[in-house]
Amino acid sequence: MKTLYYIVMSIVLIVLAGCGANSNQDQLDAFIQVHVQKVEPLATKANLTYWDAATTGKQEKFRELEQLQLEIRRIYSDSNDFKKLKNFKECGDIENQRLARQLEKLYLAYLQNQVEPQLLKRIVELDTKVQEMYSNYRGTVDGNEVTMSDIYTILTTEKDCNKREAAWKASKQVGDVIIDDFLQLVRLRNQAAKSVGFENYHTLSIFTGEQDVEQLDRIFAELSGLTDEPFKQLKKELDQILADDYGISPEDLMPWHYHDPFFQRTPLVYELNLDSYYKDRDIKELARRYYAGAGLPVDDILARSDLYDRKGKYPHAFSFDADRNGDVRVLANLQDTERWMETILHELGHAVYSKYHDRSEPWLLREPAHSFTTEAVAMFFGRLSRNAAWMQEMLKLSAQERKEIEEVSTKYLQFQQILFARWAMVMYNFEKQLYADPNQDLNSLWWDLVEKYQFIKRPPGKPDAGWASKLHFTTAPCYYHNYMLGELLASQLHHHIVYNIFGLDSDRDLSYVGDKRLGRYLRENIFAPCALYHWDKMITKATGEPLNPRYFIEQFIR
Ligand SMILES: [Zn+2]
Repeated sequence: MKTLYYIVMSIVLIVLAGCGANSNQDQLDAFIQVHVQKVEPLATKANLTYWDAATTGKQEKFRELEQLQLEIRRIYSDSNDFKKLKNFKECGDIENQRLARQLEKLYLAYLQNQVEPQLLKRIVELDTKVQEMYSNYRGTVDGNEVTMSDIYTILTTEKDCNKREAAWKASKQVGDVIIDDFLQLVRLRNQAAKSVGFENYHTLSIFTGEQDVEQLDRIFAELSGLTDEPFKQLKKELDQILADDYGISPEDLMPWHYHDPFFQRTPLVYELNLDSYYKDRDIKELARRYYAGAGLPVDDILARSDLYDRKGKYPHAFSFDADRNGDVRVLANLQDTERWMETILHELGHAVYSKYHDRSEPWLLREPAHSFTTEAVAMFFGRLSRNAAWMQEMLKLSAQERKEIEEVSTKYLQFQQILFARWAMVMYNFEKQLYADPNQDLNSLWWDLVEKYQFIKRPPGKPDAGWASKLHFTTAPCYYHNYMLGELLASQLHHHIVYNIFGLDSDRDLSYVGDKRLGRYLRENIFAPCALYHWDKMITKATGEPLNPRYFIEQFIR
């Protein structure tokens, strides 16, 4: 007994020694300094290598990048450092807000990397294998291989229902091919999550993303309730148009009758072609002028950017913060179309967020409050390329032209936003249940959710693993909800700016052109604080209330 008493006492003493009142803050401060000295140059180097890889397409740059990423990951997987961070956290005596916030972010970054090396190796290998199988596979129609762009062409133009069915099925075939490996990957991800004390990989991901499953459930349930009726109406109207188009009755519509394999995009019947308004316009100059007018000049960003198409270059677009010290750039492949107007406005939204971080904040906090908060700002600006009032002012259109745009774009925006919300509900709920129990009948679960949220009938017969053809499950697991949260916050910012910053009584005719109050508000309340506050707190401070789906509904459902 006596021995046990001594053992217990010495453990208590050791634990107490770990929590040394105010010297703890000093120790944490020292830990952070050493950590940042190691990570900052590596991160900057990795970022610049990524830029070189994306702008040139050179294989050696991609390999160099992989090495740098591995080096960074090695730092974050150090289990001794993780123990130290855990100890700082458990002592709970870090009163300095900046230090506490840095500790929180560091702890989460380390936590998701505490995977036993053998297990990590298997996860990385399987992940790569699934992605390779995915990109090498071609679906077939009548024994002939088809590409995804063939499939999109058929789904958007073909009137013959049998051909549509065959093309839609071809888009899903890859699901059955990768399903066994993918489910194995899911189980390994779960195993890694369990080893650090989580129920499954989904709950771990949500936790390390500083989110909360109950909160997300609540937001999605509310969104579901609010969009149910309006979506039913819009879908009924659409079904009639499509059925007439194919010469069938609306009750006979099947998943292949919609214009997208997952019904996540607006069917072409509502798609509007705004390209004629942007033809022969200087998209870069429009964006430059617009942002300058809003009090967020981007000349320096554009000067460092890589904006036009070139062989070997990454074909899409992204914004990029090289060093958290002002070297912000955009990669794009600009053309004089509405899509590229939207894209450059979107990417510059990300870019100004990074550019206007308060650079006196510590390096670890000099990033957006959350990936969905920077997405929200990017979406807020990206939406302008279809805004009739904005287009009229920026492109000097007539009142008549503006009226024409308004008529189509209102309908389009409404449909697109509600449709996306319903689709995001399928993705969020499916992934949550996938990781909770990967052994259940997932193929039926998928169609249960599609019927519940998208109002689309399942095809007859035993369901296959077509859902696994969605690459996000492999490359961006448990992340989809953030796109939706971004849309919600974009609308909340819109509401707050219209009513409280501009003091208007409606957003009618609002173009957002040439008003520097917009830039000042965003800089002071969103950009400068960077990640000093948890996203929830940042939103509450910036808009007077927590994230609220009401404003999205108010903006798009009328
Ligand atoms: Zn974005």
